[in-house]
Amino acid sequence: MSSKVKRIIYVSHDQLNAEYGGLAKADKKSDLVLFVESARMIKGRKWHAHRLHFIISSAKHFSAELKEKGFTVEYLKAENTAAGIEEIKKKYKISEVIAAQPSSFRLLNALSKLNVKFVENDFFLTPRALFHSWAVEQKSFKMETFYRKQRVRLNLLMKGDKPIGDKWNHDADNQLPPPKNYSWPKYLKHEFDQIDEAVWLELKSLDLIGGKPSGDFATTRQGALKQLSHFLKYSFAEFGPYEDAIALDSWSLHHSLLSPYLNNGLLHPSEVIAAAIKVFNKEKIPISSCEGFIRQIIGWREYVNGMYWFLGEKYKNVNHFSANRKLLPLFSDPDKTEMNCVKSTIDDIHKRAWVHHIPRLMILSNLALMTEINPQEFFEWMREVFIDATDWVMVPNIIGMGLYADGGVMMTKPYAAGGAYISRMSNYCKPCKFDPKLRSGDNACPFTTLYWDFMDRNKDEFVKNHRMSQQVFGLKRLKDLPETRKRAQEILELLSAGKV
Ligand SMILES: Cc1cc2nc3c(=O)[nH]c(=O)nc-3n(C[C@H](O)[C@H](O)[C@H](O)COP(=O)(O)OP(=O)(O)OC[C@H]3O[C@@H](n4cnc5c(N)ncnc54)[C@H](O)[C@@H]3O)c2cc1C
Ligand code: SF4
Repeated sequence: MSSKVKRIIYVSHDQLNAEYGGLAKADKKSDLVLFVESARMIKGRKWHAHRLHFIISSAKHFSAELKEKGFTVEYLKAENTAAGIEEIKKKYKISEVIAAQPSSFRLLNALSKLNVKFVENDFFLTPRALFHSWAVEQKSFKMETFYRKQRVRLNLLMKGDKPIGDKWNHDADNQLPPPKNYSWPKYLKHEFDQIDEAVWLELKSLDLIGGKPSGDFATTRQGALKQLSHFLKYSFAEFGPYEDAIALDSWSLHHSLLSPYLNNGLLHPSEVIAAAIKVFNKEKIPISSCEGFIRQIIGWREYVNGMYWFLGEKYKNVNHFSANRKLLPLFSDPDKTEMNCVKSTIDDIHKRAWVHHIPRLMILSNLALMTEINPQEFFEWMREVFIDATDWVMVPNIIGMGLYADGGVMMTKPYAAGGAYISRMSNYCKPCKFDPKLRSGDNACPFTTLYWDFMDRNKDEFVKNHRMSQQVFGLKRLKDLPETRKRAQEILELLSAGKV
């Protein structure tokens, strides 16, 4: 046992970076770096294999790199994080443990009980206190207001005090449907190495979703950097226009696929931003694409993290619509539905534990919202199947944005939509047995039927919301409202039975 060790630096599996957090001021001579792989993280739930593999293999690669650099490293398997830390404290007879502020309330509570000393969590661009000072001054927590402040504070895409391109937001130029006869960029494949193989050997006997990862995501910083360069070279210029499109012939379109690495520390948002701005300044990248991408990182990502901490631990349990339907069978088995959009989305998730923001919001969450699935059950399912799932990002996105389970604390209206939206933004509907234009009858698109029924069920509340009242008035024009209501009841029963 090394008697030189004086301090333990605990590194969680989502803070894998030697330049930030607890490791930023680490001393090789006197610090021990500790990783704990808790049984809780692996057992007891039907996780997606790609998610578990990504999380564990990334941490194992990172711990091996630290060892190579001369650090004393312990990578420990334990019942839970606290038990792992206690074990190492005893083994080395040291009491001082430091860590970066954790990214979830659960870990914060667990580490606080052990008197761990926290350093600032600098894996984000906005300190929690700074976000808090913004939020307490707001009447409504509009992401756009926060984002503009970020642009000025971080001096990004600014000309003096004006936005470059004369507009803060280029959404109007974006949001195009998938183009016809278009060549989508090629994918970057990441090769398995020995560590990846060894992690897979340990995982493969567990009852998990999905098989062996097929190289869509890297598990090292070098791989993450390659993905960043690949995105900037092949996708950045067209990121904006097709940001919201869904295409049958491309699973990632022009999206960056960077969320897993940003969320586990392999990439820092500041380097992603710096690299993007460098390319924007050197090459002909349209402002609508550059602004769209920068907004995701300095706006949405920072905003949801800020809101997670600002809204507090109990926010996760809200249930505005008292929604209590059980999770639909189609979420775990794509063969339980004939809805082409949902089937393809679940198929894609099974293949690689990732789909982009529109299927997450306008297909999965939209369906859960309008069928009144219990928000917490839906949340737990999303957590199990996405490679980039973490509490801080999912609570605001799912509970607040996707399900409107907070009754409008975060969003000004629910993101509910019928088949017309999916039909416009994707090419799912043509081969589907349902018709997105129909509300009633056997061929009616379930999204369209459920949309009008959802409006009808909640009309007393929505009519008071100026962003919803038009749709509520639209109900009066529906000649087939009684049939739509009846069909909605049938659809809900069929969905629960896995038969639609
Ligand atoms: C219902 C719902 C659930 C979501 N769950 C997750 C999740 O579990 N983990 C996760 O990382 N993201 C989540 N998101 C946000 C977003 O869908 C993903 O970050 C994105 O699809 C990841 O793919 P990408 O890296 O190619 O993103 P790009 O489209 O290329 O965007 C670039 C980056 O911007 C950030 N970003 C974009 N939108 C958001 C957002 N709404 N919130 C936070 N960051 C954002 C991400 O870091 C992303 O990597 C969710 C969004 C919704 C609507
Ligand atoms: S018709 Fe409806 S169910 Fe079918 S793909 Fe389109 S939106 Fe989905």
